[in-house]
Amino acid sequence: MRFAFLVHPVAESAASFKKLDEGGVLRKLWGTDPLRLTGALHKVVQRVMAEADDAPTAEVRVVDEMENLVGPSGATAHGRLYEVPMGAMAILEDPDRALGYIHQAVQQAADWGARIVGLGSMTGIVGGRGTVVAEQSAVAVTTGNSLTAYTALQNVFETAADLNIDLSKETVAVVGIPGSIASVAATLIAPHCGRLILVGRRASGPAQRLANQLSADFITDVAEALGQATIVVSATSSGSCIEQAWLQPGTLVVDVGVPTDVRGDAAEREDVLILTGGLVHVPVTMAQASPLLWFQHGMIPSCLGETMLLALEEREENFSLGRELQPEAVQEIGSIARRHGFDFSQLYSFGSPLCDEALVRFQKTRGRMKGRSAREASENSRPTAAATPKKLADRAAKLYARYINPVLMAMNGGSGLIETFVRGEGEYLYDAAGKKYLDFVAGFGSLNFGHNHPAIAAAVNTAIREQWPGFTPTSVNPYAAALAEKLVSKAPSGLEMVFFCNSGTEAVEASIKLARAATGRTGLLSCDGAFHGKSMGSLSVTGHPGYQRPFQPLIGDCQRIPYGDFEALERTLSTRRFAAFIVEPIQAEGGIRMPPAGYLREAQAICRSTDTLLIVDEVQTGIGRTGLTFAVEHEDVHPDAMTLAKSLGGGLMPIGAMLCRRELWMKAYGTVANCTLHTSTFGGGSLATAAGLAALDVLESEGLAENATRRGEQLLEGLTRIAKQFRCVKQVRGRGLLLGVELNPLQSNVKSHWLQIDPTGMARYIAAEVGQMIDAFHVLHAMQTLMQGHAIYTQFTRSNPLVLRIEPPLTITEGQTQEFLTAFEKTCEEIDFVVSIIAEMIAKTSVGKHDAAQRAPFTSADAAQ
Ligand code: PLP
Repeated sequence: MRFAFLVHPVAESAASFKKLDEGGVLRKLWGTDPLRLTGALHKVVQRVMAEADDAPTAEVRVVDEMENLVGPSGATAHGRLYEVPMGAMAILEDPDRALGYIHQAVQQAADWGARIVGLGSMTGIVGGRGTVVAEQSAVAVTTGNSLTAYTALQNVFETAADLNIDLSKETVAVVGIPGSIASVAATLIAPHCGRLILVGRRASGPAQRLANQLSADFITDVAEALGQATIVVSATSSGSCIEQAWLQPGTLVVDVGVPTDVRGDAAEREDVLILTGGLVHVPVTMAQASPLLWFQHGMIPSCLGETMLLALEEREENFSLGRELQPEAVQEIGSIARRHGFDFSQLYSFGSPLCDEALVRFQKTRGRMKGRSAREASENSRPTAAATPKKLADRAAKLYARYINPVLMAMNGGSGLIETFVRGEGEYLYDAAGKKYLDFVAGFGSLNFGHNHPAIAAAVNTAIREQWPGFTPTSVNPYAAALAEKLVSKAPSGLEMVFFCNSGTEAVEASIKLARAATGRTGLLSCDGAFHGKSMGSLSVTGHPGYQRPFQPLIGDCQRIPYGDFEALERTLSTRRFAAFIVEPIQAEGGIRMPPAGYLREAQAICRSTDTLLIVDEVQTGIGRTGLTFAVEHEDVHPDAMTLAKSLGGGLMPIGAMLCRRELWMKAYGTVANCTLHTSTFGGGSLATAAGLAALDVLESEGLAENATRRGEQLLEGLTRIAKQFRCVKQVRGRGLLLGVELNPLQSNVKSHWLQIDPTGMARYIAAEVGQMIDAFHVLHAMQTLMQGHAIYTQFTRSNPLVLRIEPPLTITEGQTQEFLTAFEKTCEEIDFVVSIIAEMIAKTSVGKHDAAQRAPFTSADAAQ
């Protein structure tokens, strides 16, 4: 169905686009987002800029065409934007002349075949809010005000839900009574808010009646009303009636006025939140229907949205007319909008997308406000507010992006790579909808016992029930003592002293400090590709320059050699400068890299002959992961120091430990002055040691190291078979349940094609940054398919994104292992299929010619295939 929508001139904003781009700001912004680098967008900019030079003509004209809008049911609509040649102020000053142009525009639209005409914010005001136009028009008319009112309310509800604002405790002021949008908005928000204040210029009969009906106060002085309110919905037609200075700290304002009701064109205060109300986001497919919608990234005024929806629904009827809008009609158009994929959650402030910084500052103000109930304050930090699990999970993801890691969450986009898990049991994780996922990440090795192992959880619960002491610095904690004894009894001979801390990196710090203090040497030798942690000391011996660069200078006298290189080790240590050589039995984060057989034994011999300490980092390989309690046991190696963390806490508590030879400890800390030189407040706390004691028991009683061997062999065998079948797999490696599958990088011609198809030429500037991600395309594809298609959670190794880590809990069963293998086989089949299709397509396009020079150029015969 055809529809038309009337607007007043947009040339002013077009001119500001042009100004904005004088410094290349727009182009720069788009350059950072490859998804928007499209020829279509480029054309729109040029067109809008060209139009900025055109003075508005003195005639009604068509300024945009929305072709082929498609609704979810397949219904289509075709719309036009008609511009009347009068600005907003001119329309208010001379409504009769404006009405003349409006009639003209409606007539033109009717002649073109439009069966419904929507009036824009200004054109809707003159002529009795559409009633006069409707009377004289051959086609149906709407002001679109019902969807605008609905959107304004959604802006309030969305923000309140996001920030855990309990509307029933707030005073809400609705400004613009008895205007149509304000009146219906007041009616609909009344049941939700604490106190309601209606604000209007005069105490008219309709205004007073509405106030009585809603048990609201009526106030004519805007400043006075705002002094009492904390939520404001403003929808006047005169504009500029609210000074930002009048608002109380912690006030949320939704400004639906056109021109805007809040004065100023930028936020003047950090302690209030002013939203540009009335904007709704249409689905991408609809945004693509017109340059204007696309240029605004699909964010459109709701009055236009309502007109589009009525056309898509083929409802040729006068919908929102006059001063009295029906609450039922507002709800109805809202649910139609949602059915068509309209989104109300994207908020704008002063014409720009609302940024998280503004929300955080606003939230801080509300957090500090006196008089807010303790309940609301605590609900802000508790993920248990009354909400559906889905809403809870969505909010958690938003908060994660806002407070924890914006970039990681932005990169996830809609890819489904990052899930929100709300529960873990055994080998499974559960999302908010209750869907379960087989966990093949196991907290990067900290969940060898699975999630919430009952025996370990019971031990922690017992410690709480029996009131084991909390933290007792420089006193004796019997449970820490017991764990130290147990650890030493299981550790390789020679390791007799234990230092407790809370993480892997702290255990590594303890080991390298010990090495320097005990040997009097300063040099620390480690391996390329190693990962030992991210605090300054452990980062200094980590072999990943990318992790180190921003933090230089790190601690001095650290050197690296290639992993597994006997000769380099011997040559370097023969200088006798090094206090210690720190090494992982398998480089886990570095890409599940195995050293040559006998490497650790040889390293031990070289260390002994050069008086260098051998520190083995078992943070990830320890506690049964590779099939024995500690990976050093595979080669019967006896290090001078060994670091543990991750699964030592049984998957429930953070705990780390550094074990070392007694004489080294005594050399470093064996005097009255030195015996408390290296300590940790939380190290050896009761709950952590309770978990550690139970974890070591479970490892033994359930034979989990042995299970790691069996399941590891099953996986290696299956994965090796799959590797032979599919081109995307490069290599399978590892030991026990610390396995990795290295996938091949994306073919170079696909990468170069990606650069060549970009018409703006911007992609090549950002290619270096995203190059690594493009290389890891197969791994990302595998992770996504396993997660979304097979409900299996996997990750790549952090320092080598081409390697998919296969690291399930050691409790995994034969059946679960087979389930993974079946899913992985299907995933590889899918990847190979996708890659072959891409390669085929590239070969058939002109840009693919130099990659496939032998092939015939694209012909119509190819197209027919
Ligand atoms: N050492 C190794 C071998 C690790 O794998 C890790 C973490 O992955 C660490 C040290 C650092 O442990 P944390 O993250 O607990 O500091």
